[in-house]
Amino acid sequence: MISYSDYLQLLPKTELHCHFASTMTAPLFLELAAKYGVQLPTTYPDELFAFDDLRDFLVAFRYAHDVLREPADFERVAYEGVRSAVADGNLRYREYAINPQYFAARGLGYRDVMDPLISGLRDAEADFGVGFRIIAAINRRESPASAVAMVEEAIAQALPEVVGIGQDDLTPEDTEDPARFAEAYALAGRHGLLRTAHVAETPFAQPSAVRDALEVLGCERLDHGYRIVDEPAVVELARERDVVFTVTPVSTTICSGWHLDEHHRIRAMIDAGLRVAVSTDDAMFFRTDLGREYREGLAAMGVEADAAKAIALNGIDGAFCDDDTKARLRAEFTAAFLTLDAVLTPA
Ligand SMILES: [Zn+2]
Repeated sequence: MISYSDYLQLLPKTELHCHFASTMTAPLFLELAAKYGVQLPTTYPDELFAFDDLRDFLVAFRYAHDVLREPADFERVAYEGVRSAVADGNLRYREYAINPQYFAARGLGYRDVMDPLISGLRDAEADFGVGFRIIAAINRRESPASAVAMVEEAIAQALPEVVGIGQDDLTPEDTEDPARFAEAYALAGRHGLLRTAHVAETPFAQPSAVRDALEVLGCERLDHGYRIVDEPAVVELARERDVVFTVTPVSTTICSGWHLDEHHRIRAMIDAGLRVAVSTDDAMFFRTDLGREYREGLAAMGVEADAAKAIALNGIDGAFCDDDTKARLRAEFTAAFLTLDAVLTPA
């Protein structure tokens, strides 16, 4: 028999919301920083990853892109990131947000970033059976025109692995302001790219950002969304559209100040009938992993086994992959649930 903690750890999982640079391990980050002479404020992970707020974190997030320069760096981060997520949380499928524009300053073009990334993820898929897709992320610190240019590039290159667009960072005013990027999202939609956006994430964000992301940007899925529970009409809208929210319990707690317990907003989203799927967002920076997000995050919020299984399945329904891949994952997950249910120690 196994404990509920082990049960959550062993559940098969998808991850729909993680930023590629954040899937690095801390030792690899330090190794690559040393390789390129990138001066970090400290080499002690406890200090390097101690953030006061989201803005503080975003400075470190930009640093992490600075250590990815050669194809081998991208390949290694991609491959090792899958290997550790399988070990840390039984990852079975993952979608990565990556913004190719972070690397343009170093002379790396779109394909210089995407090709080795895809190559590393393909090798990992062959060895660990973990499928993947890629989401081209808009850097909200840059202009709306720059977002349009990035989407144009994704359309022109048309890599089958790049299936959607998303976002990272915040606007220069440290806001979300989804409508600012309406043109880039409309362009993506016209060319069959699926759409997600980071909204209603922090105590300072607005629940109306969820409505804007759905109605102005046309998003099929959303990242975070926690402030939604303050606005019943928006909850209703998201429920009607059957939106899947990628939520990040442990990661979010570090920047939001929200305590991880039965009153947490993610638990309120679940209780309101919204569909959530669990991810790490920025695992290295928040010193978390996919297993911990389930094992500690869900358990702290009082999420029980049936709801945890539903969350794992939401991570398939909300994925931006093809229907055959989803059907295969569903069959795999359902079989694993039967095995795990049979050995779970009754509460
Ligand atoms: Zn994110």
